[in-house]
Amino acid sequence: MSKRLLLTPGPLTTADATRAAMQRDWGSRDTDFIALTARVRERLVAICHGGDDYSCIPLQGSGTFAVEAMLGTFVGPTDKLLVLENGAYGRRASAICRRMSRAHVALSWDEDTPVDTDQLSDALAADPSITHVLAVHVETTSGLLNPITKIGAAVAATGRHLLIDAMSAFGALPLSATEVEFDAVAASANKCIEGVPGIGFVIARNEALETTAGHSPATVLDLYEQWRGFEANGQWRFTPPTHVLAAFDAALDGFEAEGGVAGRGGRYRQNCRILTQGLTALGLKLYLEPEVQAPIIVTVHQPTDPNFDFDKFYDSLGAQGLVIYPGKLTKVDSFRIGCIGQVFADDMARVVTAVGETLAEMGVRLSPETS
Ligand SMILES: *Cc1c(COP(=O)(O)O)cnc(C)c1O
Repeated sequence: MSKRLLLTPGPLTTADATRAAMQRDWGSRDTDFIALTARVRERLVAICHGGDDYSCIPLQGSGTFAVEAMLGTFVGPTDKLLVLENGAYGRRASAICRRMSRAHVALSWDEDTPVDTDQLSDALAADPSITHVLAVHVETTSGLLNPITKIGAAVAATGRHLLIDAMSAFGALPLSATEVEFDAVAASANKCIEGVPGIGFVIARNEALETTAGHSPATVLDLYEQWRGFEANGQWRFTPPTHVLAAFDAALDGFEAEGGVAGRGGRYRQNCRILTQGLTALGLKLYLEPEVQAPIIVTVHQPTDPNFDFDKFYDSLGAQGLVIYPGKLTKVDSFRIGCIGQVFADDMARVVTAVGETLAEMGVRLSPETS
């Protein structure tokens, strides 16, 4: 049987070398583990061209731990956050603020509509009490690409502070601190860097970090304290995810060998092209317009033929080693297929073939495009 593919927003299919890196046990105070931590932190800052002005603060946990830590640490008790919402991850940021009793307002768009930066500028002009803005680079809910450079310019023009959830974009789509003025960006090990799950991280501007002492309502999610800990002795404050970090370092080797952001993003774009062209040719309808589709995950309308049954479709693909993902849209029935992780052009062609065969077996009729 051919290899099992995770065509999901994460965790993803990983490389053998990444998993193999977890075979050794590390002590948290070993000098080589301290060096490993420092190396991974530096490599992550380099991906977004942060230079000496930015620091990476890794954190035990999944990506949302890093987002919650970023919001709690950077949005202080007297600050106010504007959340740019066009999917579940923007809404989750608002829910986190509500839970932490941080002042926040939202600007919302439909799940297929990118952030409109004119509306953003108007909202910032209208409410001088807004201090920070949270943007989601790629809304994984649909696969929607938000215009992060224009958002950065609009936020910087009014002297506000930008926080970015770049979870599903970091490493695959360019995000440079020299082009986008951000205070902090959150991502995780198990998305486009293709590590194993267990580490989130925030890359933050040192000058902004300096102002955040005492903000975090949670001890374990306090990025200021986590940063001071790393700077003081190179160690994690609490038990580090040692094996996950070793795997992350190996995944970064693979990322660099592939040519960094350009190489990885190029492969994902090719994967996405094969997938979207193949599904369209079968007669399936994609949710997003091509110009706003990020090469990360593709949302597909469920066929309207009554013979279509998502659970059967999912199980049948799963039996062939292809793990897809349910939809997360609020208004339409959909499913999602990811283009990220250790999946390549021939894998995507296999997915398209299997989707076509599975729908045919279910007796689902589509109207393929004839062009
Ligand atoms: C995956 C993801 C997260 C974090 O999800 P976890 O399940 O906590 O890892 C946050 N934001 C976006 C945009 C994501 O794609």
